[in-house]
Amino acid sequence: MAPATVPCQYRTGKTLGSGTYAIVKEAVHIKTGEYYACKVINKKLMEGREYMVRNEIAVLKKVSKGHRNIVTLHDYFETAHNLYLCFDLCTGGELFDRICAKGNYYEEDAAALVRTIMGAVKYIHECGIVHRDLKPENLLFRTKDEDADIMIADFGLSRVMDDEKFHLLTEICGTPGYMAPEIFKKTGHGKPVDVWAMGVITYFLLCGYTPFDRDTQQQEMEAIIAGDYRFEPEEYWANVSATARDFVTECLTIDPTSRPTAAEALKHKWLASEQPHFVQSP
Ligand code: ADP
Ligand code: MG
Repeated sequence: MAPATVPCQYRTGKTLGSGTYAIVKEAVHIKTGEYYACKVINKKLMEGREYMVRNEIAVLKKVSKGHRNIVTLHDYFETAHNLYLCFDLCTGGELFDRICAKGNYYEEDAAALVRTIMGAVKYIHECGIVHRDLKPENLLFRTKDEDADIMIADFGLSRVMDDEKFHLLTEICGTPGYMAPEIFKKTGHGKPVDVWAMGVITYFLLCGYTPFDRDTQQQEMEAIIAGDYRFEPEEYWANVSATARDFVTECLTIDPTSRPTAAEALKHKWLASEQPHFVQSP
């Protein structure tokens, strides 16, 4: 798949969002009138790694077509300064915003979302890819409908981006809240980091705040390394089943070799049965 060098097949419009590496704009394919989300990545961020990045993009293009809950990469091209990735447009917004709007999710709804996302994570892992940046900002709804499909976005590239710059950028842009302890200990960032992040996401869905939220990033990092979190304050957790808490506890296992894999997590009682086995009061 050779990258096309002519970006003028698309006309870009409003900015949809920006994240760690890139700005994402709405783009219309001029010939077909189809709308896409076009991710513009500054090539300076991948100096010396262009080859790896292009390779990874080819893999993403293939992999992203294989699962309905992964945002499909349709096209990519580059100019002297930027790399452009054209994805399916998700119009339903980020999971982050839906959690903030709702406060928290009912346990049944949370389990359904986590089951779907974990299924997509299992698929990505089977393809040999680690997401490394799973968080509610990278989970998008396909449409504005209440029951729209949830989609994993923003995966695969973090592995080939410059690690130092990545850390610098996370320092500037945001919270380390979803990062696994082994990332800070620099002992690895394989597939288990995604399961850890799913534990943090699940916690967030259930109560509306993250487990390692502290005043400073240093304290947050120390709390993550120590696995120091609680299902508190009690009033936020009163309606959450022991099974759900156990699922979170399993995903937040400090030792990555003892943490369940995505496939194992899917078999956890909380996700395994389609039937709700808990009573949820409104
Ligand atoms: P980064 O690597 O910079 O974090 P992302 O791929 O996460 O970039 O995109 C940044 C933001 O842009 C997302 O959080 C989301 O709000 C928006 N966005 C990304 N992809 C899409 C898409 N396919 N459809 C709609 N919005 C998107
Ligand atoms: Mg992102």
